[in-house]
Amino acid sequence: MANVVDTKLYDILGVPPGASENELKKAYRKLAKEYHPDKNPNAGDKFKEISFAYEVLSNPEKRELYDRYGEQGLREGGGGGGGMDDIFSHIFGGGLFGFMGNQSRSRNGRRRGEDMMHPLKVSLEDLYNGKTTKLQLSKNVLCSACSGQGGKSGAVQKCGACRGRGVRIMIRQLAPGMVQQMQSVCSDCNGEGEVINEKDRCKKCEGKKVIKEVKILEVHVDKGMKHGQRITFAGEADQAPGVEPGDIVLLLQEKEHEVFQRDGNDLHMTYKIGLVEALCGFQFTFKHLDARQIVVKYPPGKVIEPGCVRVVRGEGMPQYRNPFEKGDLYIKFDVQFPENNWVSPDKLSELEDLLPSRPEVPTVIGDTEEVELQEFDSTRGSGGGQRREAYNDSSDEEGSSHHGPGVQCAHQ
Ligand SMILES: [Zn+2]
Ligand SMILES: [Zn+2]
Repeated sequence: MANVVDTKLYDILGVPPGASENELKKAYRKLAKEYHPDKNPNAGDKFKEISFAYEVLSNPEKRELYDRYGEQGLREGGGGGGGMDDIFSHIFGGGLFGFMGNQSRSRNGRRRGEDMMHPLKVSLEDLYNGKTTKLQLSKNVLCSACSGQGGKSGAVQKCGACRGRGVRIMIRQLAPGMVQQMQSVCSDCNGEGEVINEKDRCKKCEGKKVIKEVKILEVHVDKGMKHGQRITFAGEADQAPGVEPGDIVLLLQEKEHEVFQRDGNDLHMTYKIGLVEALCGFQFTFKHLDARQIVVKYPPGKVIEPGCVRVVRGEGMPQYRNPFEKGDLYIKFDVQFPENNWVSPDKLSELEDLLPSRPEVPTVIGDTEEVELQEFDSTRGSGGGQRREAYNDSSDEEGSSHHGPGVQCAHQ
């Protein structure tokens, strides 16, 4: 939950990012009442914002997209139905549908080209240390030979077949007084709306106005950047005549790490220790994400309980744009107990003398029944007594019940 990239929608509803469905519903109902246009006509778009935030967060799929990728996730995943564009840009800025393949208009009125999204896989080490990497991609640029005209100046002519519209409308009469209108892409100009004579066509781009070019981008992954964060190269997407190029947007994808799991700026790891270390203190070394060897000491006399967590302050991930401040490192201890019969019975009584003493067993009066404790594999589930008996009947290997039926079945 703490890996949420953007909290805007949660803020609108006034709930924390981990909020339950119930909390969301409650917050929504309260705010919707308060800001309903009937009651509160001066609240402007507030009611629409609240409805939009709730629409996204109450839908598990949309919420997941939003939590992982922020507004971008909603754009990619299709944020909402008709009329949502306005409120989307109101909240996030920029249009929703501009990202969804349609071309939007930029501030100066020129058409704006599509943005190009690329995922960029990065290791946890890269995000800890920062990294500069080069990314090679191929994109359309305006042809330099014809300045994006497609031919000599004046050679470009409006397509006569479609009168420059790129589409042709055909009217078919189905029955007297009943016509069907059909629209199709103009075949003379391939929908371009203009034609260039073969001989006037630019040799370099063959009249296409653009050529493919290999572009190398230098990408700076900053310390502390997160999964789902975007790195934007403004105006670096495909060029086309009369169109303002969109952006190239790199979407960071954090790879799984074999030692550390990340939770915001904190790191988590699990470390195995033996019983002797759990009781008598220990020291161990591990390699951090910047290759430092970190020595962890725990003094004799302090006890580690199985499954407990200890924290090392300031050894987590660096904060984005404030890398000298770091999160914390949480170490969970997996305590390995010794095997059955690891020590002789007389040594065991010596050990018992050292350990904290047993609680006194109360004397029981009346009838008692003694039962046996058996090994139990929790992955098998309890299953009920019936199944177990059925298994025992068909078994030819009595006495090895601790293997569990799953294992034996595989050999039969
Ligand atoms: Zn045409
Ligand atoms: Zn050209």
